[in-house]
Parts: sequence; C-alpha cells; structure tokens
Amino acid sequence: MKIKVLGSSSGWAIPRLGCSCRICCSTNEKDKRLRSTVLINDSILIDAGPDIYHQLLRFKISKINSIILTHSHPDHIFGLHDLTPKKCKTMKKVPIYGSEKTWAVLDKIFPNAGFRKEIFRDYHPFELNNLKILPVPVIHADNIHTVGFFIEEGQSVLGYFPDFLGFMKEDDKKYFEVDCLILDGSTLKKPFPAGTNKWGHISILEGIRLATECRAKKTVFTHIGHRTPPYDDLSELLRKKGEFYAAFDGMNLEI
Ligand SMILES: [Zn+2]
Ligand SMILES: [Zn+2]
Ligand SMILES: [Zn+2]
Repeated sequence: MKIKVLGSSSGWAIPRLGCSCRICCSTNEKDKRLRSTVLINDSILIDAGPDIYHQLLRFKISKINSIILTHSHPDHIFGLHDLTPKKCKTMKKVPIYGSEKTWAVLDKIFPNAGFRKEIFRDYHPFELNNLKILPVPVIHADNIHTVGFFIEEGQSVLGYFPDFLGFMKEDDKKYFEVDCLILDGSTLKKPFPAGTNKWGHISILEGIRLATECRAKKTVFTHIGHRTPPYDDLSELLRKKGEFYAAFDGMNLEI
C-alpha cells in the first residue's frame, strides 16, 4: 500500500499568521504544513480540507477515484467547494464516502454541489480498489461524529486516525495493531489540565503510550499543531521512543 501525506497540520495551517512561536518561525520546509489529508495508492483521498485544491496541484494529482471523510469539521471538508463536479473535471463521477452525520452537514453546506453521495456505517467494512476499509467511530470533540479508518490490502494494514481523543470501547484498541498507524499529533502534551477544558485530541506523549500498548509496528504523527516542537526536534524526540515519526507534507510511506 502506498500512502502519500498531502497535508499534516492540525485545524489551522502552519505557520499561523502573526504567530512568533518556534515552529511558526522555523525556516525548515518540513515545518510548513497544510491541513491533514492523505492519498492511498494514488487513488483514494482521505479528507478534503481547505487546502486540498492546492495540495492536488502541488503534487500533480489530476485523477482520484474516491474520497472518504473522517468527519465534518471545517479542516476536513471545506475544500470540497473547490472540488464541485460542475467546476472540477477531476471530480466527475468520483464518489464521496461519509457517515450519515457527515453527509447531513455536507448537504447543508453544499446543497447544489452535485456530489456523488455514498454513506458508510460504523464497523461496516466496504471495498474500494481492492482495499478493505473499516470505519471505526472514535471520541473526538463534542457533538461531532468522527471515524478513523482501518484499511487492509492483502497482509498490509494501515490505521488512519487524524482526530482522536480515545476509543468508544476498550475492544477497539485492536484497530491500532497495524503495520502503520497515522495518529493525531495536535499537541506534544495536553494543553490544559485534565478536566478543566474540553479538548478533542490525544497528545503525542499519550499517543506513544497507546500505540505501544496496542502494538502498532510504526506510528506516524500527523494533524500537527503549533503546540509541538519544530520538525527536527520532534523527530529526534520520537526517534528515541522507537518506531515513531513526525509526518510532513509530501511524505511517502509504503507498507
Ligand atoms: Zn482536524
Ligand atoms: Zn505558532
Ligand atoms: Zn476535528
């Protein structure tokens, strides 16, 4: 399975306009991040945030077979405006897979877009281009239905969970026992003391513990926000913990 990271930022791109923190001032190209999205086997796009049009142009991707959506937060769907089939030839006949709740939001925001609607159900696998895709519901922010995807091709298994606070049930931890886990890396540590603020993301340090407990063979943190160290420092910190990596825009993975 080929995985290309087209974007790796959290809800807001990095650098953040007007911010003078270390990562926002970094001159390293790997610290310049657009909204999180990946392309699987050159054909299946996961999420379509506000930057998607320029991400597709940047990586010269003029053909995709389908789009699958994790949830309806703006950083994962607002780029669909640019992918309206009436205006974008690449999108002719391209199905968009989302949960019923995600589609309820899309129908409201893009009422006349002419998208090809496909609805998946939690824990019900579906097939796309010889990949078996299982949507796994996860805890994220309040009032938003979010899934991660457990994707199988032959013996290779990928987990893609860019917005993740926890599993709905203990037994779902098995979905992290994969060849490659791409996981929420919004912050290094929880930005608020537990219980004082609502925050829909696991921290990188918690993610390392959970991925280790669940025996993920390799974990790549994405959805990276500016409450993390710059790329080189973060990569160094992760390298010391084992098979842990920081994603960057343009990263290629193969499992
Ligand atoms: Zn997000
Ligand atoms: Zn910043
Ligand atoms: Zn979200």
